[in-house]
Parts: sequence; C-alpha cells; structure tokens
Amino acid sequence: MNEGHTEPGQHGFDAFSLITAHDEANAFDAVVPPIVQTSLFTFSTYDEMIATYRGEKIRPVYSRGLNPTVRIFEEMLAKLEGGEDALGFASGMAAISSTVLSFVEPGDRIVAVRHVYPDAFRLFGTILKRMKIDVTYVDGRDEDAMDKALDGAKLLYLESPTSWVMETHDVGALAGLARKHGAVSVIDNSWASPVFQQPLSLGVDLVLHSASKYLGGHSDVVAGVVAGSKALIDRIRGEALPYLGGKLSPFDAWLLIRGLRTLPLRMKAHEVSALEIARRLQALEIVERVCHPAVSNRLPPGLKGTSGLFSFIFKEGIDIRAFCDSLKLFKLGVSWGGHESLIVPGEVVLQQKAQPNSAHAFGTHPRSIRLHVGLEGTEALWSDLVGAMAASKIT
Ligand SMILES: *Cc1c(COP(=O)(O)O)cnc(C)c1O
Repeated sequence: MNEGHTEPGQHGFDAFSLITAHDEANAFDAVVPPIVQTSLFTFSTYDEMIATYRGEKIRPVYSRGLNPTVRIFEEMLAKLEGGEDALGFASGMAAISSTVLSFVEPGDRIVAVRHVYPDAFRLFGTILKRMKIDVTYVDGRDEDAMDKALDGAKLLYLESPTSWVMETHDVGALAGLARKHGAVSVIDNSWASPVFQQPLSLGVDLVLHSASKYLGGHSDVVAGVVAGSKALIDRIRGEALPYLGGKLSPFDAWLLIRGLRTLPLRMKAHEVSALEIARRLQALEIVERVCHPAVSNRLPPGLKGTSGLFSFIFKEGIDIRAFCDSLKLFKLGVSWGGHESLIVPGEVVLQQKAQPNSAHAFGTHPRSIRLHVGLEGTEALWSDLVGAMAASKIT
C-alpha cells in the first residue's frame, strides 16, 4: 500500500454531504428530484422568449440543451469531481467523442496512454484518423517518453488504471507535462470514480466517465459525463453538445441521481471484496498473474482506493471455456459497475471483429479473465470461482 492510502471506510472525502446538497430545492418538497420528462419548455411572453434567445436569461428551452433533471445530475457530478461545471451525455462514448472533438482539428496530434478503452481506441483509429488527427500511444509509466511525445501535441488522453491490464500512472505528473506543452489533458475516470480518484485536484483539465458503470451502479443505464472548469465545459457546451447532440435524457439522469446516492457505499464494498478475491487468486498455483492496482503494486499518487474490476491470467492447465461455463454467480457479460459479478474471457475479446482490429493494443492475454466483483458477497463469489476452477482442470 502506498503512503496516504486509507483503509476502506476511512476515505477523508465526504461524498455524502455533496450528494445530498441538492435535495431541499425539489419541487413539491419531494425527497427525490422529479423527472422533468419534457422535450421543450414554453415561454409566457414574447419578451421572456427574446431575452432567453439573446442570452440575457438562462432557462430551459429544449432538452437537448438544458433540462432540470439532467442539470441536477451535472451539478452533483461537478461537485463530486471538484469541477466548476459538468455536462451529461447519452453514453460514455458520446462524452469521449464530444470532448475530444472540441479540442482538436485536422493536422493536430493527440497523445494517449496505451491500453485505453477499446472503443476510444477505435474512435481514434477510424473517425479521427479520417479527419487527419493523429494519435501517438505512449506507455504512461514512462514520463520521459511522454514528455517527448507531448511536444507539439494538442491533447493528452489518459486512463489510469488502463482497461484490462490495469496499468496505473502518476496522473498528476502526466497532467503537469501536458500543461508544460500547452496540451489539454483529459482522463477517463470510470474505473476509480470520484470516490477513489479526483483527477481535477491532481491538475488534469477535464475528467470524464462512462456513467453506465459505477456512477449509475445498477446496470440499467447507458450514460456519460464530463467535468472541469467552466471555460472548458463551455467550449464543449457551445458546439459538440448541441451539434453532435449526444445529450443525456431526463430519465437516465434520474437513474444516475439515484445511483449517486449510494456511490461511496458501493465503491467501498466493491473495493473490499475485489481486493480479497484478487489476493486469494494471486496465491493460487494455477494463476500466473493478477492485474489489480493494489496487488503486488503500490497505488500511484492520487489513487485513494480500488474498485471491483481487475483481470488475472491462468497458467496452462485450465480449460477456460469449461471454467466460464461452470461459474454460477459470475455471469459472462461486458460492462461492469453494477450489483452483478461479471467475467469476460480474454480469448473472446481477441477474436472480436470490430475495426480497427486492435485487441493486442489493449494488452489482452489469451489466458486472461477480466472480473467485475459485484456485491453478492466475497465468500459466495470465492466459492463460485474455486468450484469452477476445480471443474475445469485439465488432468
Ligand atoms: C464502458 C466504458 C466506456 C464507454 O462508455 P459507454 O457508456 O459504454 O459509452 C468508456 N471508458 C471506459 C473505461 C469504459 O469502461
């Protein structure tokens, strides 16, 4: 454990007071904010309408721009991340594409850490490539290489821990390098959530999430969000939000508001259970390696805890297909962040047909398994894993 790591339940950050701050202002004194499920808002007078169009009055006009339920979620998220403002999107990918496209133009270069989320990698390799925007991938642990690569770059795209292999970086140091070179820094913070990592406080310019994961927390919503300074968020709000149009819906915002109420509790439960399972896996003869930021590693500066997602690699001697099919609590499924424990076998990902065919770029090992440790209980989940291993040993 690194210095400054706090044990579960002792994170100094009081997320609950931030989350409940909104509740007094709700219509009808409802304890839960109502869903303002409307596409448009009417004006009582011509003067009110023209004042709004002139920008003299800020009020909802159309829900692609501003919706009160969505706004509550955005303000909650801005507070949780320590940003001045935030914008909700229809998916994590809408948040990523709208954010990146707000800061680059043809001829520009982006520096990204290697092993970023696969669909972000594919966005960079398809649409951005056609727009003549180049992406250089660098090992985020190599700060000298980062420093060199950032020379002349417009944007630094971070993820720590990275997808699948869970490589961690000194996010504050990388953000400092981006600042030195005049590049805007962006981080995907879906894995840690603001409970365990607040990148804006480490000097990153913009923090984004797939809210489909821990922020929602119940596997029932696909959404995204980006937070940061008012100036940078205004830049995204001005063009990418209205013209690309990937706005978060009121009902999904309401589900996210509900999810955020239990975020700190859920994150701590995922942390305790996943860490215990990761340590037990590490001790097994049949396991070659566990990729979890807190197992045989010190947490990097700024990461205050660990969530429920990690991967491990089996040695030869397990029939991975039989292992997957023998599990009862762990279901085969993508995504993560909800109550349910899930697995994705590396072998399956390596055979994905999506373009560009980039599975190797994520560091995925054919004998690896990605686990999301849900909230079913550590001992039940451990028995499930041990039982499936016993049933799939190649003798
Ligand atoms: C799921 C995920 C995304 C994409 O989010 P969607 O809500 O599925 O569009 C981005 N980054 C990470 C790390 C993810 O896990």
